[in-house]
Amino acid sequence: MLDVIIVGSGPAGLMTGITLAENDISVVILERMSRPNENKLCAGYIPISSFRKYGLPLNLYKHLVEGFRFHDSSGKNILVEFDNVVGGNVDRTEFAEFLAKRFRKNGGWIRTEEYVFDFDERNSYVTVKTSKETYKGKFLVLACGIASNLPGKIRGRLFRNMVGLCLQTSIPSNHINIDFKKENWIFYGEKYSPFGYGWIFPKENIVEIGLGSLLSEVKNGLDSYLSNLLNIVGVEKKYSRRYFPVPLSGPIEKIYSRRVFLAGDAAGHVSPITGEGIKYSLNAGVDLGISISLYFKKKISLHDIGKKYLKLLRKNVFPDLKWGRIFLKLVQKKLISSSKTFVDKKKLRAVAELYASNITHLNAGLKFLKTFFL
Ligand SMILES: Cc1cc2nc3c(=O)[nH]c(=O)nc-3n(C[C@H](O)[C@H](O)[C@H](O)COP(=O)(O)OP(=O)(O)OC[C@H]3O[C@@H](n4cnc5c(N)ncnc54)[C@H](O)[C@@H]3O)c2cc1C
Repeated sequence: MLDVIIVGSGPAGLMTGITLAENDISVVILERMSRPNENKLCAGYIPISSFRKYGLPLNLYKHLVEGFRFHDSSGKNILVEFDNVVGGNVDRTEFAEFLAKRFRKNGGWIRTEEYVFDFDERNSYVTVKTSKETYKGKFLVLACGIASNLPGKIRGRLFRNMVGLCLQTSIPSNHINIDFKKENWIFYGEKYSPFGYGWIFPKENIVEIGLGSLLSEVKNGLDSYLSNLLNIVGVEKKYSRRYFPVPLSGPIEKIYSRRVFLAGDAAGHVSPITGEGIKYSLNAGVDLGISISLYFKKKISLHDIGKKYLKLLRKNVFPDLKWGRIFLKLVQKKLISSSKTFVDKKKLRAVAELYASNITHLNAGLKFLKTFFL
């Protein structure tokens, strides 16, 4: 019997796995795709603070970011610059391959092309049924993202006002005649999203163009908004585009049972105001890995693993999620508006610092609340 079975090789699953493997716990990751986290729809922006925290090499960045260029529906744009690199955009599969290498080096084991379709929690173990076989483990970690129905068995369902819907397309860089410099472009206003924002995030050979909106605010699909973004870069040809959900629930506490734990998107670990989830998935993975390891080291009881995990999340992940959710609700009630962000550069700095991860959501909120009230 394995100690821990993890479903999903995104940042949450891999970081949980690395932390467990570093603690000599036998762990397997089951992934439905043929490579770790392959084909994950994502713009790939990660702040440099996460790279430093986890010792990630800067060459994983496909585009360095020293500033954010904010655009509004009228065509105006303002650049907020920083003195140094504050983050960058990664290729998600390459990013996962890097973490997977670290996981394997520590003794972890990844089985790709294994689709997990169900699990069964017993008193002293968990069984996991995949497209190939049935596994037995002492613990199960569901890090299979938001599109899987497995986490719902523990967490319950997420309602339409707790989920975002994104639409994104990847355009070859040589089809866009724009020098993006060390910038990521962000688009606010009704032209670019019914309730959310649009983005143009360049990478080495492609440019990610997409938008997100709270699902409950989407009335007629998101295609016309994406077309408006494509017009900005002068792209007329139809490239394939994909929809994908993202949780915007804020902190969820019902993310574990006795032997089953949720992390990352599966547990709602995404900022409800920026839609960023990678840095929170990395943090949550470590928090969960530490919590389960403490049990194997006989430092905490079975009963206390979930409590320990929640305690760490409340410190490392939940504050941003909680404040992000509060700000999302204020925007929904039209108490905060992005329309006044373009009055002057100072007002955008707080938002840029949020993306740069230089300040917490609470502090960014306090800064822009002063100026954003209608
Ligand atoms: C369009 C878009 C743009 C985004 N841009 C950004 C961004 O720029 N920066 C940022 O920080 N966040 C961004 N996010 C959010 C970010 O992608 C997620 O928060 C992050 O990927 C969550 O990581 P995870 O490990 O929880 O799950 P995922 O990365 O979703 O990984 C889950 C893994 O589980 C596997 N899996 C699922 N079901 C099964 C199953 N039944 N059996 C086996 N394997 C399974 C999947 O194949 C996948 O590899 C974006 C999201 C979207 C949709």
